[in-house]
Amino acid sequence: MGLLAKILVKAVAPIPKLDSMQKYLFIGPHPDDIEVGAGGTVAKLCRMGKEVHFLVITDGAYGTNKTEYDKDELIAIRQAETRKSADILGVKSVTFLPYRDGGDYDENAVKYDIMKKILEIKPDAVFCPDPHLKTECHTDHLKTGRAASAAYMFSSISGLAYEKFGLEKHEPKVLSYYYTSEPNTFHKIKKQDLNKQGDAMRSYASQFKVVDGFDQLKYLIIYQQFRAFRSGITHFKGLAEEFRCLTGMRMHCFMEKVK
Ligand SMILES: [Zn+2]
Repeated sequence: MGLLAKILVKAVAPIPKLDSMQKYLFIGPHPDDIEVGAGGTVAKLCRMGKEVHFLVITDGAYGTNKTEYDKDELIAIRQAETRKSADILGVKSVTFLPYRDGGDYDENAVKYDIMKKILEIKPDAVFCPDPHLKTECHTDHLKTGRAASAAYMFSSISGLAYEKFGLEKHEPKVLSYYYTSEPNTFHKIKKQDLNKQGDAMRSYASQFKVVDGFDQLKYLIIYQQFRAFRSGITHFKGLAEEFRCLTGMRMHCFMEKVK
């Protein structure tokens, strides 16, 4: 019965191939999350000439180990790091929302800001962190994942889109979660994409430090490369990045974990 249900879900609500579309919106809770969570895919899509946009929800004001520091200065540094990374990857636009790092804001307001961006850009695919990751405790990640999921859904509701923003509804074809422990999509990338991801992550000098001889960034890049290798070998794709992809129908009506 389980197999039959999966066949039905695949037939009725198929997941489009992630590199088959034209326009993409990647949403990150903080500067650097998109690159860490999905940087290889961003690199590949840009290499293929696709239109890729970044939307960063919080200002990253607490992304330091110092107790005394200038928050405005850090925000400016982190935004400059994201712009540098986006240039390396070939991203078309970067938008920063002004929510303060740390999760102390209204998730509903974030939802409507994301929804407005979806209605303006009209992406075919939206990427955000998986809000259902069991180990995730950071409120910014949870709120961003939930707000983006709701925004994805609400963007396709004509009355709401018009009443809130005076804009036409838009229904992206797929919502893809990065930072997920329940992937259903293994997106093939190349070594050059993985290298680009590493280059983009190196833009975030304020975030990755050498502490007691331990180079955080070096080992995070090695970890990402190991994951891409493991996923690629397991699924016969060489190198791959993992996502949990949903469509509108799969959000409500179908519960099976189907590719
Ligand atoms: Zn983060």
